[in-house]
Amino acid sequence: MFLAFMACIVIGSGWGAGNGRATLIDRDERRGRALQQADQQGGILRLAVPVPLRRLFDYLPPAGVDPASLVPGQRLWVPFGGRKLVAVLVERVGESPHENLKPALELIDQQPLFDARSREFMRWAAAYYQAPPGELYGAALPAALRKGKPADHWAEQWLALTTEGKGLPESALARAPKQQALLQRLLSCGPQSRTALRAEGVTAAVIRALQDRKLVAWHSGPTVPPPLPAARSKTPVAEPAAPPTLNDEQRQVLAEIPSEGFSVSLLEGTTGSGKTEVYLRLMERVLEAGRQALLLVPEIGLTPQTLRRIAARFPQRSIAALHSGLAEGERAQAWLAAAAGQADIVIGTRSAILTPLPRLGAVIVDEEHDGSFKQQDGVRYSARDLAVVLGRMAAVPVLLGSATPSLESLHNALHGRYRHLRLRYRAGDAKPPQIHVVPTLGQQLEEGFAPQVLRHIGETLARGEQALVFINRRGFAPALTCDDCGWLADCPHCSSKLTLHRRERSLRCHHCDYRRPLVNSCPECHSRALSALGGGTERSEALLAQRFADYPVIRVDRDTTSSKEALDRLLAPARDGEPCLLLGTQMLAKGHHLPKVTLVVIQDADGGLFSADFRASERMGQLLEQVAGRAGRGALAGRVLVQSRFPEHPLLQLLLEKGYAAYGRQLLRDRAAAGLPPVRAMALLRAECEEPRWAQDFLAEARAMLESLAPSSPQLQYLGPVPALLERKSGRFRFYLQITAEQRADLPPLLARLCAWAEGYRNRRLRWAVDMDAQELA
Ligand code: ADP
Ligand code: ZN
Ligand code: ZN
Repeated sequence: MFLAFMACIVIGSGWGAGNGRATLIDRDERRGRALQQADQQGGILRLAVPVPLRRLFDYLPPAGVDPASLVPGQRLWVPFGGRKLVAVLVERVGESPHENLKPALELIDQQPLFDARSREFMRWAAAYYQAPPGELYGAALPAALRKGKPADHWAEQWLALTTEGKGLPESALARAPKQQALLQRLLSCGPQSRTALRAEGVTAAVIRALQDRKLVAWHSGPTVPPPLPAARSKTPVAEPAAPPTLNDEQRQVLAEIPSEGFSVSLLEGTTGSGKTEVYLRLMERVLEAGRQALLLVPEIGLTPQTLRRIAARFPQRSIAALHSGLAEGERAQAWLAAAAGQADIVIGTRSAILTPLPRLGAVIVDEEHDGSFKQQDGVRYSARDLAVVLGRMAAVPVLLGSATPSLESLHNALHGRYRHLRLRYRAGDAKPPQIHVVPTLGQQLEEGFAPQVLRHIGETLARGEQALVFINRRGFAPALTCDDCGWLADCPHCSSKLTLHRRERSLRCHHCDYRRPLVNSCPECHSRALSALGGGTERSEALLAQRFADYPVIRVDRDTTSSKEALDRLLAPARDGEPCLLLGTQMLAKGHHLPKVTLVVIQDADGGLFSADFRASERMGQLLEQVAGRAGRGALAGRVLVQSRFPEHPLLQLLLEKGYAAYGRQLLRDRAAAGLPPVRAMALLRAECEEPRWAQDFLAEARAMLESLAPSSPQLQYLGPVPALLERKSGRFRFYLQITAEQRADLPPLLARLCAWAEGYRNRRLRWAVDMDAQELA
């Protein structure tokens, strides 16, 4: 569905130059007129300015700057409402519908940062997601560049082969071994920085000799991205880690991924089936063709372990990792190396999809079902969906991989829009785990654990193996109550309870981060009989640490791991293979290869079965399968114990007996019957306000406006205003209007009209946002 829709939006929607209150139609007319009259010089600059308005802004060139020297993709300082902002030149035009244009202040870049394809991609994304173009460019740039730091701050001189140099026969320089060695190095490793050559003692004379023969030349470009963890260690990785021999399934999958042209493949492969190995081989193919590979990973997946694995496989390649753990300068360097085509492999989380990649050869999305690919505030885009758009624009293959594909991708694969590739068996020697349900209703539980589960944990540890306990909630307990009067500790700003954190003796709201010290007595009736209701990681840790005191108990959740490195350190004993007990939240569910884990316990599988959010069952299934996938990844067989009060629930039965593959297909049938995504397309108009009435009124008016444009019909349906699942957050009441459409292509034009209307809505206290392909009703 996503695919079918792309062609029309690319052609159909431009960025108007009208003001926010104009309708789309007269914006387009005006734009057409301006274009007709445009002269060839293009003396007016059309810029993406980082403000929350869905339009571009026209400026004159900075004083004394010849407009002909300005190239789209460059940054400029511009005056805006008394401030000085960093804007990106999107196009030069001959005429503007606006009068009294101001000149821009200063040109920042000599070389454009965004190439033509990247700008077209941004235009598409802004039109599809109703994003203010300036904010979208802002989301694409690393902070240092967003703040206007010049790119040549990180410039470096690079020595590269000329065309003649590349075509030189191998023996041509046999009599000048030093020149021959340098030439060989450039041939096999690509351009070399002046810094690196100097460090290795390559003399200026050798370089000059090659320069005189016109075999090499200097270029200016960004410095190399910071070295990856593997390269940072004292012992450099000299030889690539020997890659395993592909099994038949992997070979077949690779053969089916086309090397050339646009295609989308969904790789549905059991956990541990060797998907990552397939990504590495595809990357290898792309690199050999002289192109860049982009690998998107979930936030949780960009671990030092992942980077080490890739760096070890491609020690000769320049790899740029784009993630939040980098210092500002490091991140800018990595980004510039990617955008200049210097980095061969770019690995990043969500926003990496917005990075210009001039030599792009393939886009790979690992764990494509992961929620972190969807930006939930600000510019609300889906990096996974944009990967498909980018693949089409760049005419390159897109590979979406997961053990538990999103229903969106599964739907596209089952309808033949994506190639559907499967890896059904675990790679190497690992066997699939055995899964058992442990009914908890009527059992005497100890801090939420059934007796036989505790027994299994003990036996696993005694055998010298590792156990992993998955608990969906951090903290000690999700609520504190008074046994005498029934008082509950609520968050004063949200419609939610405060979570008890016992070690730091506090009550905390997990929605707005409100904190208060733990009380010893009830604030209502002063009784000291307070009880902690329900369980969390901290509470389970207390029990398990006491019960299995002879073994390390490692708790992994947001409270114990401040960074990826901290998580990596925390997991070190587990990687070393000593018997230990791991417990934690979904942070444990992904990415870590721990071959000694033979028992996985899921403390409570029921949360996802009875939620008001229609995606909860999908997420629960994905989580269960992913967590279960941690068991028995090595030579030892694995066992999974799932605690549930409803062991007979048909969905749970299906998931446990047939696995996620069958479960996901059943959920798709349910979604079709209910008219929900991905079978229908869905967008939300969200509104929040301290005054609930105002948010509701705004949404009701919005609905009336939309219905006058496009009356509700089987093709197009409206629901709402309805309260969000978390009705009050940080002091604001939250509501939404839901729009679903049979044809995805019907939504963006309608949403554009909606935004134009809402931008003229007069209520400064109200916040609103359009969420195309919304993932959360929370
Ligand atoms: P996934 O990404 O599907 O979870 P991985 O690619 O991480 O799976 O592979 C799981 C384990 O199997 C890794 O230790 C990997 O090195 C190993 N492996 C992958 N492919 C092969 C193969 N063809 N032969 C042997 N081992 C393999
Ligand atoms: Zn009380
Ligand atoms: Zn709160």
